[in-house]
Amino acid sequence: MRIDTTRAILSDLIAYPTISTDSNLPIIHYIADRLETVGAAVEVMVDESGHKANLFATLGAPRDGGLVLSGHSDVVPVTDQDWTSDPFTMTERDGKLYGRGACDMKGFIAACLGSLDLLAEAAKTRPIHFAFTHDEEVGCLGAQELVKLLAKRPVKPGLCIIGEPTSMQVFDGNKGCCEYTVRFEGLPGHSSAPEKGVNAVEYAVRYINRLFELRAELVKRCPEGSRFDPPQTTLNVGALKGGTSHNVIAPRAELAWEMRPINAADMEFVKGEIASYVEDTLLPEMRAIAPEAGIATETIGEVVGLEPMDDNAARDLVFALTGQNHAGCVAFNTEAGLFQSLGMDAVICGPGSIEQAHKADEFVSLEQMDQALTMLGRLASART
Ligand SMILES: [Zn+2]
Repeated sequence: MRIDTTRAILSDLIAYPTISTDSNLPIIHYIADRLETVGAAVEVMVDESGHKANLFATLGAPRDGGLVLSGHSDVVPVTDQDWTSDPFTMTERDGKLYGRGACDMKGFIAACLGSLDLLAEAAKTRPIHFAFTHDEEVGCLGAQELVKLLAKRPVKPGLCIIGEPTSMQVFDGNKGCCEYTVRFEGLPGHSSAPEKGVNAVEYAVRYINRLFELRAELVKRCPEGSRFDPPQTTLNVGALKGGTSHNVIAPRAELAWEMRPINAADMEFVKGEIASYVEDTLLPEMRAIAPEAGIATETIGEVVGLEPMDDNAARDLVFALTGQNHAGCVAFNTEAGLFQSLGMDAVICGPGSIEQAHKADEFVSLEQMDQALTMLGRLASART
């Protein structure tokens, strides 16, 4: 029975404690071995550190238009979580499989590996690719590397299914996530002579005010009928630290802010507007007083979202495979937008619920695993 094989594979996958801080090489080699047994061409792409790798594999003759099955191999930590059983030993209770990563997202990877015979059959019609990445939970680091490599290749996959836990519902949009830390370097001085110093906190506040203006612009830019909640790109001023005392011109300030863009155009708009405000307005004023003053922006993470599209062949394929006809937008970030940025149609659909992800006693139900196996099994007969 496919479910039994898949359950055993999931147990193996959960036993690799692939927390993002640790190496994922053992699990990648395990997955590679499984894929090679059905004749997949497997590439293990080790990163600069030598401790992390992405895996990209292909079943079937390489040509354009293949389907990518995508998942991340890392999991979030279990520290300070109260687990009923060992998080890295899969335990079955009441039709549920418990363990760290059970739904997010080793369940989907296990379903793929448990369906390899059928997927090999499906690959006779169209290539089936597997993209299993590292460090998704800490900013989609692996996927960003992988798409850079894929972009240079002559063969272009056409569709991508990202098996993040959606309770097997179909989602064709997710907002992106961009995080920045901005450091303002001013010139301290006595508060009685403000014109002789550069007040870093005041410049940070002006920067924030510009973000607020952009926030209003983003509401106007929001496309009609946007299915996101809230519908527009949002900005958040997360933390502002700076200054020393009441009577000192603040020498330094640090601002942490975030943007959740609904599309790449909004992301570029905000970045462009804030950069020109810094270059054309804030910096010249600061440097007129202190040439050494400055504003430095550190990009913590910059991941585009999955922009909902009227035409999306990946969504239509999953509709056909699962018998659904409605797609929603998810609130959490995924790797989907990165694949879309390569010109692929992407959709998010996978076993288990995001409700259980990242929590103690994470689980995926056997019923959900069964649905995932059914979806993947139907690929062998799909002609979409
Ligand atoms: Zn995930």
